[in-house]
Amino acid sequence: MLKKMNKKVFIRSFGCQMNEHDSARLKDLLIERGYAICGSPEDANAVIFNTCSVRKHAEDRVYGKVGTLGEFKIKKPGLIIGIIGCMAEARRDEIFRKLPIVDFLCGPADLDRIPDIIDKIKNGAGRIMYLEGYKSKIIPAFSRKRFTGKTAYVKIMEGCDNFCSYCIVPYVRGRERSRASKEILEEIGLLIKKGAKDITLLGQNVNSYGKGLQEKINFVALLKKIDKIARSAKISFFTSHPKDASLELFKAMRDLKSIVNILHLPIQSGSDKILKRMNRKYTVAKYKKLALDYRKIVKGGNLSGDIIVGFPGETEKDFNDTFNIVKKLQFDAAYIFKYSPRPFTKAAGFKDDVTLKEKERRHTLLLDLQRNILSNKKLLCSRPGLEHSN
Ligand code: SF4
Repeated sequence: MLKKMNKKVFIRSFGCQMNEHDSARLKDLLIERGYAICGSPEDANAVIFNTCSVRKHAEDRVYGKVGTLGEFKIKKPGLIIGIIGCMAEARRDEIFRKLPIVDFLCGPADLDRIPDIIDKIKNGAGRIMYLEGYKSKIIPAFSRKRFTGKTAYVKIMEGCDNFCSYCIVPYVRGRERSRASKEILEEIGLLIKKGAKDITLLGQNVNSYGKGLQEKINFVALLKKIDKIARSAKISFFTSHPKDASLELFKAMRDLKSIVNILHLPIQSGSDKILKRMNRKYTVAKYKKLALDYRKIVKGGNLSGDIIVGFPGETEKDFNDTFNIVKKLQFDAAYIFKYSPRPFTKAAGFKDDVTLKEKERRHTLLLDLQRNILSNKKLLCSRPGLEHSN
């Protein structure tokens, strides 16, 4: 049995809300096993990086951060270093080869194994790779001893079947699987009892919630059930895929008191040609109609989107189409990224023919546009009696 003083863990999370949720879950699991969570790697006996593979830049940051731990490891030879999450799945062999100081790798679907993995390494097991959980069809049950503050994440589904041509998620988080509504409601009820006020439902594509479950349920039906038990808590959700977003969803957002009127609906490009190459399964016209319907039904609702610039084959005209649709739709927030090829994906086989310099130029142009949109909105909102309309 490990002594308490040897049981301090530092966890750093990179990437999306799903990773933040996974890190919070891991903390609960470790605390239940007698570990303490500490605030800096210097104090820790184990350092864990929960990583993201969605963009190359995110991976480069992790390589840099782990590299800086080499010195600690020399001073503290028993220090255990783990890389978990999407990058552990995607870069498994490369990480072990490039970073001999890393003791274990664990994929996002295998988090429950980590307390055992740390114990085994302490007991001399050597380096461990645990990466097969993404093939699983189930999401592990939540911890009833879950710690929470005023805000909390609740995973309702995991994985993705959409295979957008640029995206690594289906390969590292596996296929779509949903949790039974009974379990989700139990978890939300518990969090509310413990004082949570803002709860975010998470899934790679929440709109396809319910697929594959025995119970007949979809995302809107789940929201209705949650609304009944929400009391004064506010419920948000993240992320919606435009091909599955519906008028039924917008009406539920309008009618259910607990649901926050924020819709994150990634558009990715304003060019039909590029959307097709991205395998997004909607057209610009369909997206535009959805956005207009949403704003008509959910009055004053917040709309945000993701955009990728410099996707293979994106011409100046394609980019201008994206620029114009962003200008037209007046997003309340837009997350703009430069394309980088990801392993396993179909687009990794396309010619990455937009130069980095050009990607940067397009990125800057869109960022400036979005900044202007936001400052105009603020100006409108700060004038009494005026509301922005689209
Ligand atoms: S919908 Fe597309 S971008 Fe989103 S997680 Fe699935 S494959 Fe990736």
